[in-house]
Amino acid sequence: MPSTFIDLPVNDPAVEALRADFELPRATLSAIADDFAEAMRDGLAGRPSSLRMLPSFLGPPTGAEHGAVLAIDFGGTNVRVLLVTLRGRGSELIVQQQAYPLVDAAAGYDHISAAADATTLFDFIAAKVAVATRPASALRLGLTFSFPCEQHARDRATLIRWTKEFATRGVEGQDVGELLRAALQRAGLPGIRPVVILNDTVGTLLSASYQHAHVDMGAICGTGHNTCFLEPLHPLTGKPMLVNLESGNFDVVQATRFDTQLDASSEQPGTQRLEKRVAGKYLGELLKLVVLDLQQCGAVRFVGTAVLGRVRGEAQIISDLLAADSAGAAASVLRGRLGVQVDDPLSLLRIRTAAQLLADRSAGLVAATFVGVARYLASRGHSSRENSSQRTPRVVAIDGSIYAKLPGYASQLQRTLDLLTPAPGAIVALRATDGSGIGAAVAAATIT
Ligand code: BGC
Repeated sequence: MPSTFIDLPVNDPAVEALRADFELPRATLSAIADDFAEAMRDGLAGRPSSLRMLPSFLGPPTGAEHGAVLAIDFGGTNVRVLLVTLRGRGSELIVQQQAYPLVDAAAGYDHISAAADATTLFDFIAAKVAVATRPASALRLGLTFSFPCEQHARDRATLIRWTKEFATRGVEGQDVGELLRAALQRAGLPGIRPVVILNDTVGTLLSASYQHAHVDMGAICGTGHNTCFLEPLHPLTGKPMLVNLESGNFDVVQATRFDTQLDASSEQPGTQRLEKRVAGKYLGELLKLVVLDLQQCGAVRFVGTAVLGRVRGEAQIISDLLAADSAGAAASVLRGRLGVQVDDPLSLLRIRTAAQLLADRSAGLVAATFVGVARYLASRGHSSRENSSQRTPRVVAIDGSIYAKLPGYASQLQRTLDLLTPAPGAIVALRATDGSGIGAAVAAATIT
């Protein structure tokens, strides 16, 4: 086994075929940005659109929000409960924070599969709130619930449908604020008042603007993917409002045969088409489909016969392959995460190239949607925050493991933003941390 990678042969046919599948030229990305802007206009005007444009009933924070509040972050493999004291002027203090897995095979529970129901899930969450508080506590609570919800008011949100392969029964179509309120009552916590329910993208934008300054968009690039933006003049209120695009459901993006295959085997085929191309929940599985295909057409050789099961650790396989600095390291990633033995250097290189192409496609597509938001705002005449001589950039705050941890992802995303906008830096991506926790606290603190 050589210790470093060999060079890929020029015009390697297997790699050329992968490039044809996954590389998106500038013109295609720019057309996607235009389609995205169009879908935003349709969604806001109530015309059919794959973008739901869900109102949040929240505007940007003033930065002066303060007080002690509770926050719940629900939307990934853990639920987190935070007790936060906000001190105003952007400085926050987390007093207590605890994360609990929603699935624990050793403890014998799984609250997110179809075998679980709303009561057990919300009782589990309320029990964790009880750990962080006292029965007599009187506190405002912000719930970050990171799924598409039809919001009727700040504290009333109906789950439209699960995403990210969640399947708990009895939650879709229900008001999650009510489910939580009832569970808090059952847990003997009448003084805990859920005052706001928000999406994690909204939390990300709120916490970034609380801590920094003006932010135009908030996005998550993690297990799931989504973006929200600040609509300067919302048709419902005539005031600025954060709007949850549910951009993971954007469907005007061409599909490769791998995307089609993955969608067909997902919990909810035909939905979340963009998310299934870009998000951590799916990238590892997409890579597996590509590896299998390469093997079937003879471009990748396995040692012995291999049956590929589930990818261990979701998108971690992509991160590990991109971080692998030798053929040996790449081989051990494949052994550990996919359970296959590959030791032929050319096979390893082709697989690593596939991982790179999938990561780059994800960053490119996500960047194109941000450009779509900027174009939408510009077309509405909201070039905002401009003074006579200087135009300030649009800012997008991004949270999530893919953006934060996948090697090269953040710079590829910024490069694509620069490629699609008239001047480099016209849209600036910022890394946000703990948008879901701090954002829920900031939102709760706005309510008196
Ligand atoms: C959900 C969004 C959420 C995103 C990131 C998607 O699956 O539909 O509401 O913001 O994941 O967590």
